[in-house]
Amino acid sequence: ICLGALLVIVFVYRNLDKIKAFIADQFFDNDPALAIDANGSRDIAHVLTANNKNYLILYGSQTGTAEDYARKFGKELTARFHLNVMCADLENFDFDSLNSLPEGVIATFVISTYGEGDFPDGAVNFEQYLNEVEDSPDALDNLRFSIFGLGNTTYEFYNGAAKKALEKLTAAGAQLIGEMGVGDDGAGTTDEDYMAWKDETMGHIAKVLDLHEQEQEYTPSFTYTKLESLTDSVSLGEPAKQYLPPRDLPTNATTGKQRGPFDLALPYVAPITASRELFQSADRNCIHTEFDISGSEITYETGDHLAIWPSNATEKVQQFLSVFQLDGDEIFDLTPLDATIKPPFLCPTTIAAAVTHYIEITGPISRQSLGLLATYAPAEIKDRVTALSKDKDLFSSEILAKKFNLADALLYLNDNKPWEGVPWTLLIELLPKLLPRYYSISSSALAEPTVIHATSIVENTPNEATGHNTVGVTTNLLRELQLAKSGDSAAQAQMPVHYALDGPRGLYHGGKLPVHVRHSTFRLPSNLAVPVIMIGPGTGVAPFRGFVRERAKMAELDPELLPKMGKMFLFYGSRDESDYLYRDEWVQHATTLGDKFEIDVALSRAQAKKVYVQHRLAQRKEEVAQLLNSGAHVYVCGDAKRMARDVQRALADILAAVKDISPDEGQEIIKAMKVAGRYQEDIW
Ligand code: FAD
Repeated sequence: ICLGALLVIVFVYRNLDKIKAFIADQFFDNDPALAIDANGSRDIAHVLTANNKNYLILYGSQTGTAEDYARKFGKELTARFHLNVMCADLENFDFDSLNSLPEGVIATFVISTYGEGDFPDGAVNFEQYLNEVEDSPDALDNLRFSIFGLGNTTYEFYNGAAKKALEKLTAAGAQLIGEMGVGDDGAGTTDEDYMAWKDETMGHIAKVLDLHEQEQEYTPSFTYTKLESLTDSVSLGEPAKQYLPPRDLPTNATTGKQRGPFDLALPYVAPITASRELFQSADRNCIHTEFDISGSEITYETGDHLAIWPSNATEKVQQFLSVFQLDGDEIFDLTPLDATIKPPFLCPTTIAAAVTHYIEITGPISRQSLGLLATYAPAEIKDRVTALSKDKDLFSSEILAKKFNLADALLYLNDNKPWEGVPWTLLIELLPKLLPRYYSISSSALAEPTVIHATSIVENTPNEATGHNTVGVTTNLLRELQLAKSGDSAAQAQMPVHYALDGPRGLYHGGKLPVHVRHSTFRLPSNLAVPVIMIGPGTGVAPFRGFVRERAKMAELDPELLPKMGKMFLFYGSRDESDYLYRDEWVQHATTLGDKFEIDVALSRAQAKKVYVQHRLAQRKEEVAQLLNSGAHVYVCGDAKRMARDVQRALADILAAVKDISPDEGQEIIKAMKVAGRYQEDIW
């Protein structure tokens, strides 16, 4: 036995790298962002050397945006300076060799902030590493780095993760090249913030490394192979490899449920068991959708988020294919040119499948993307396209203000004629991935543990510049599913866009969509007696529906709990009666919960002067102050741009009035409440 054990140990030791690679392949293969070397090494310096890379970009991304910017930065460094860039997820590496990167290598970090100034989940190991080295002033004295953070000024800890990273890196002796850049999603300026930082930083990098700008040249990261036959291994837009025929998702042998884990790499294809229109309005829609998760081992908690994986509308796919004169039926495979790169989506696939399911084609176009496409602009408009890509204000008034997507912009610039000759591989590398959209779960894990409810306002506004409505990808898909389910084919036909509802190889037939749950920290107080003040106008009421359902279910299961509960005070707002969400349900809950639940409604357009939730808070200031005094927790959900700030100000003013302090001191109290977890926001 001892000899056998010894042999196994020796075998494992000698083949450690191969075993790691095998494990990585088995478990992470469908994560296209994964970048490790062929031997599965997590040693950052080793991977750079093994792949002959001379520039390092590491990203920490929660939803994919930081990854997108990191890739753009890498693509431009390669195009302008012919650098051999490695762009990788912080999650996939150990950093012990960060101070001994190959000669001349600079590292750029692109890090988004999540929650209360936190690092994204995948960058937690990096944060731990930084915590270990920050007290040693020479731990990273060989490292030269630049850093860009993605955040939102409406949050208390704006760009908290990138700021922490900067502080700890410099404390450990690393040398910052240029200035830290910060992108502000709250002001909607992330793209321009990035452009300003990128231009400045690339100038510094060129100086430090003595680089000379070359003619911008696109070099593909993949070998493109055209395939002839459509076999079962060709993706038609399946959300992950496991869904290709014969669809062998791991299943629990005892329960028969799909095991997962279901996350950004692998969603669960959930049947939609109910779907209904919540508004009674001629021109606005809000869809309530119920996803059945009973066939999976997915669990959720009240206050979590549901990620819904969309696909692009058929009309938009056709427009895109026709602008670039692409043959949707073409089958292709992408072979990465080195081991640090993975295809951005499941391959082999068809062009139509990639455009429908994997690439974001309808969002606002970035100035940098237009700049990279300028090389391929038809000769007669090349100068104009180049000028637009270089002039922030012109780009803003000519392209952004008109809400053009990429195809709209190119058609507009080229007199409605297509752009031929843009390499399809460039588009694959240039355009962001089609990412899931998040929804605050509006059901209660106690009341409905196997069903998840989402409440989504449909994004659909007329656009004179394009002549067609500007639409949101996911919410219109949810609406079409609702109309199809209810059999309202007339309304379905009138929708501005339509979707291939059956999905790839009929995977979504009968009304299904890929979803996964993202756990949040938005939770009711664990102590039942603590009162709660919830402020959620519009669809911001979603998690509070979950909270109230939770307490109502508790009271139903054990009536003795009711007297022990603290009051739940909900401030809700809508325009008028036609968009008053879940009106009947609140009445029902008030019956179950008695004086433990109250809803105060601001119907903003029901009178001449607009009334919003913050006005109602001010009108009920004595009760609000009394609840705050007795330790109430405050929850705010919904619009991050204005509402969250207005509500915070209103509450600070209430505190100022009752405590006889200044509004600034009121704000300080709220900040302290945030730190203590007594004031939580779920805003977007
Ligand atoms: P997208 O395709 O993402 O488009 C976004 C917006 O851009 C739309 O208004 C669209 O009309 C517009 N747009 C499209 N193309 C262009 C263009 N070329 N130029 C300019 N604008 C363009 N929403 C809810 O309704 N309910 C919730 O409970 C909810 N909870 C959320 C929780 C979290 C944590 C987060 C982050 C967001 C939440 N959201 C919620 C917002 C939600 O995730 C989506 O952003 C929203 O539903 C729009 O998604 P979409 O795919 O339909 O629109």
